[in-house]
Amino acid sequence: MPELPDVEVARRNLHRWMVGGTIVAARCADRYLLRPGSPRAFEHALVGRTVAGVERKGKWLKVVLDGPSASQGRRLFAHLGMTGDWTEGSAGDAENAAPRFERARIDLERRGRALVVRYLDSRRFGRLVVSSDDIVEWTSLGPDPLAGGLDVATLADAFARSRRPVKEIVMDQSVLAGIGNILATEALWRARLDPRSPGTTLSRSDVRAVARGLRDEIARELAEREDRGPDGPAPETYETDGTFNAYGRAGAPCPRDGAPLARVTLGGRSTVFCKVCQVLRR
Ligand SMILES: [Zn+2]
Repeated sequence: MPELPDVEVARRNLHRWMVGGTIVAARCADRYLLRPGSPRAFEHALVGRTVAGVERKGKWLKVVLDGPSASQGRRLFAHLGMTGDWTEGSAGDAENAAPRFERARIDLERRGRALVVRYLDSRRFGRLVVSSDDIVEWTSLGPDPLAGGLDVATLADAFARSRRPVKEIVMDQSVLAGIGNILATEALWRARLDPRSPGTTLSRSDVRAVARGLRDEIARELAEREDRGPDGPAPETYETDGTFNAYGRAGAPCPRDGAPLARVTLGGRSTVFCKVCQVLRR
């Protein structure tokens, strides 16, 4: 499942492809992805508008669209779900035929060039929502880690209010936006903290370690994606790509001390950690 670094790569791509461009055609026939909207509303909201910016909060993207007047501005909110991906090509390319799993197509003119931006999604857990205002899925998100969301005092308050396991708290999208199973597992391994530790038991230095673990893991994963070039990971490799210390490695040796990594289920999600170096706070 795409996490914050994957969505940040998508944001950078969409920003590079679309900002300053004018949308000349927009098609999405998939009512499920558009819920609660419709293909006609999608087309009407996009065509003729200029892309002013592409923002991200957690795993949501927001494409800001300018209209002929201020009151006609629109926003396109997009979520990659499990297998979503954005791609770009020239309008005249031989590969212009719709690729498999194409769910939406946006034609733009930008600096005299015609280009096509496509949304692909094999399993269709993604979303495409047009609105003139921010939608609740966006406004209900907590702060984003790349936009100042890792403030230690704020995080410490969130932990102090909850006896839930620390891993569940960091994955709560209203506490921090964009942290999924991979980032949470890796950050807690880096912080040497048992993911089952209740939030209320964390010291200020534990909270600092969790914030640092998240920051370092996000930076590492973004650098890994940049090394692979602008297209980022193929959606089918969101989970298996990359080198992890703990995620997906139950039974394998802990890279720090060689002890076999353990697995438990927390909040319905498989959680891998080291019983030797990740301390359980009580
Ligand atoms: Zn260990």
